[in-house]
Amino acid sequence: MVARLIDGKAHAAALRLQIAQGVAAFIGQVGRAPGLAVVLVGEDPASAVYVRNKAKQTVEVGMQSFEYKLASDTAQADLVALIERLNADSTVDGILVQLPLPKHLDELAVVSAIDPNKDVDGLHVVNAGRLASGLPGLVSCTPLGCMMLMRDTLGADLSGLNAVVIGRSILVGKPVAQLLLAANCTVTVAHSRTRDLPDVVRGADIVVAAVGRPEMVKRDWIKPGACVIDVGINRVPSDGGKTKLVGDVAFADVAEVAGSISPVPGGVGPMTIACLLYNTLQAARMRAGLSAEANK
Ligand code: NDP
Repeated sequence: MVARLIDGKAHAAALRLQIAQGVAAFIGQVGRAPGLAVVLVGEDPASAVYVRNKAKQTVEVGMQSFEYKLASDTAQADLVALIERLNADSTVDGILVQLPLPKHLDELAVVSAIDPNKDVDGLHVVNAGRLASGLPGLVSCTPLGCMMLMRDTLGADLSGLNAVVIGRSILVGKPVAQLLLAANCTVTVAHSRTRDLPDVVRGADIVVAAVGRPEMVKRDWIKPGACVIDVGINRVPSDGGKTKLVGDVAFADVAEVAGSISPVPGGVGPMTIACLLYNTLQAARMRAGLSAEANK
């Protein structure tokens, strides 16, 4: 392996430490801990694990965690009524509704019911608009984590670098592209209709793969020395009838030519929850009239 390994676990641990210090300072200034409310609807086992991890890490950095577990047949009006109560609750700084929601619920309407200043997942159209307009707001957690990893790896100044983002979802691809643009990169957003994707990626100093296709990005797509951020999480068959997690990048091969690469697992994944806590502290500071730390 030639590439430098981008250790998301270590970066996330360092970020949590910084957040814990920020939380202690906030308690000193405001007299209460920042609060994060997480709403889980239904019994999806993967979502239940995420919610448990989020609650555990929230408490570990000194914040208050409020968990709401609702039945899978919860009505839209009841879910929105809960969100409205949380919007009005002064001890709650961040609200996260775990997605995906059961099919009968309208995700866009549910996310739109969250107060944009408490939207720590950064999915409200107001926050998407703030990001696109270069205004301060809450940025979705995975894209924020990708930027922090890139800046820690390449340095704070990404100006003039060619970045290719593969994927254009509202959750990952589009906000990553906006953040890279705000960092003065020259940004190309590729998607399923892009022609000659390998050739497009070959021009990139930074590659962000957010597709959901196991090991799609190959070694001969990568410019030597490029920084490769793999967002993909794909479960594939492994030995003995088991499964394992792989990213969207053929890690072992690409690591022979890239300058730096984030692994799956242990890359972007751990940064996502750490950035949720970062956003909660940021939301709490803004709501308390304190200066919010600039997005990294
Ligand atoms: P979506 O399915 O919403 O978007 C996938 C994107 O990939 C789409 O824009 C799609 O293009 C594009 N795409 C699909 N096939 C191809 C192809 N053959 N060539 C080029 N582009 C293609 O996924 P998400 O953005 O939500 O997630 C992407 C991956 O990141 C998933 O594996 C997900 O599990 C993972 N993820 C990881 C997180 C973490 O914490 N590490 C958090 C969130 C997601 P088009 O728009 O044309 O359909």
